[in-house]
Amino acid sequence: MSVSTAAQPGRVDLTTIPSPVPNQIDGQDVRAADGRTFAKVDPATGRVICQVPRSSAADVQRAVDAAKRAQPAWAATTVVKRGDILRQIALLMREHRAAIAELVSKETGKSKKDALGETDAAIEMGFFVAGEGRRFYGQTTTSAVPNKSAMVMRQPLGVAGLIIAANTPIANVAWKAFPALLCGNAAVMKAAEDTPLSAWAFGVLAREAGVPDGVYATVHGYGEEAGAPLVEHPDVAVVSFTGSCEVGRWIAQTAGRRLAKVCLELGGKNPLIVCDDADLQNAVAWALGSAFSNAGQRCAAGSRIIVFDAVYDRFKQMLVEATGRVKVGTGDTDDYGPVINEEQMTNMLAAVERARAAGAVVVTGGHRLTGGAYGDGYFVAPTIVEHVGPHDEISRSELFGPITCLYRVQGFEEAIALANDSPFGLTAALHTQNLDRAMTFVGRIQAGVAVVNGGTYGSEPHMPFGGLRQSGNGWREAGTQALDVYSDLKTVYINHNPGRA
Ligand code: NAD
Repeated sequence: MSVSTAAQPGRVDLTTIPSPVPNQIDGQDVRAADGRTFAKVDPATGRVICQVPRSSAADVQRAVDAAKRAQPAWAATTVVKRGDILRQIALLMREHRAAIAELVSKETGKSKKDALGETDAAIEMGFFVAGEGRRFYGQTTTSAVPNKSAMVMRQPLGVAGLIIAANTPIANVAWKAFPALLCGNAAVMKAAEDTPLSAWAFGVLAREAGVPDGVYATVHGYGEEAGAPLVEHPDVAVVSFTGSCEVGRWIAQTAGRRLAKVCLELGGKNPLIVCDDADLQNAVAWALGSAFSNAGQRCAAGSRIIVFDAVYDRFKQMLVEATGRVKVGTGDTDDYGPVINEEQMTNMLAAVERARAAGAVVVTGGHRLTGGAYGDGYFVAPTIVEHVGPHDEISRSELFGPITCLYRVQGFEEAIALANDSPFGLTAALHTQNLDRAMTFVGRIQAGVAVVNGGTYGSEPHMPFGGLRQSGNGWREAGTQALDVYSDLKTVYINHNPGRA
């Protein structure tokens, strides 16, 4: 196995979009085994950008076979060395950040500015994980027996199957690929069907950085055709999935049957509470960002805004006014772009219509944006809905679009109860100037992330991210805790002077 960190700058070209976008298996660019492809559509225009391999079990088999062959040698390199190679990927990503952001922008329709922000977050994740190669802490401890040492160290799992959503595509790749590889696993990435380009770019740079053939593969295709075989494959030791609850549930059952490790990062219906003593200006700014940034396509989107009765009318007026100033489009001065595909758009607008038919009031939005620059793109107006009950469909199911609901509560107890009354438990925010209220919220909110006087979204590479209940299954991505997903423990005893033990 050759392991080289000496990348040669300038050899990589990420500016020409390949069509079909290749699968990257065992160091080779390849088509799907049966040659089938599907069209990747630009969500901002409805026009085809490129063809993508419609991979199947045969392609997954090939990638897993190569991964299984390559993994032992990769695991035998030191974790410091693996960290060096991952750092090289991050450095190459930084060198090519504009080109990567261009690909992200192209495949998602989000602005170049937002795509750059996301790319930079992915790069930072690379640097953070690379640094973990110099720590990779285990534990040394005592033994009851003289002349005996006891310690705990990490060991890799084998082949990791990584399956991601399309909402923040390059960040989603980075959040899984970097820690999976650092821990000494080989990894097969099933890219999201709507975002093949950034996943391809990562694969190009991983190869360029010196990740050995076979150790990292990218397989494109639909979930049921290319994702499911990865979940079912007996040689895939850990499945790490970011996506919907429905698919997550199936993955947990399917991989669970063969007792594979499963990390699920699923949906959210995240509450943002505005108390009567909140700085309303700040609360409105964060509510707006939480509800609408990235077109609401965030697991951490603020889709339930819970407001104290005393400030409800004023807050609502300010929020509606601010929403009126939200600019939708693909430019850097726009606030958000299209949603990822036509089906998602149709589904979310249908959910708003069902709520309206059941008595909800759509305060603003609730429709597709058409005409002029919107053309055939999948643009949805920023939407605020009120007069919905806590158990209505729109309060409980994730829409994954720029749609939020307003709820009126009498006070803190009702706010906390409503915030916690959800199938999900990913993130939550509270706006108050009262420290006791803030700390009581932190203590009682049932969520993986609690924020005071900020948004429901925002995750940093060194901080664990994940949720309770149907938002996940207890694992955390990012942070040192991500290493727990991709490694297992080994308890070690050494009798260093057995004769005197
Ligand atoms: P999705 O579940 O439809 O698809 C996600 C991925 O799973 C895609 O790559 C898809 O091809 C694949 N997939 C689909 N069916 C599969 C199957 N049977 N077997 C294996 N793979 C399969 O989700 P989506 O609508 O694309 O993404 C949005 C969801 O992702 C939302 O629920 C959102 O909250 C969630 N999400 C969660 C986090 C988090 O960290 N908790 C982050 C981003 C997105």
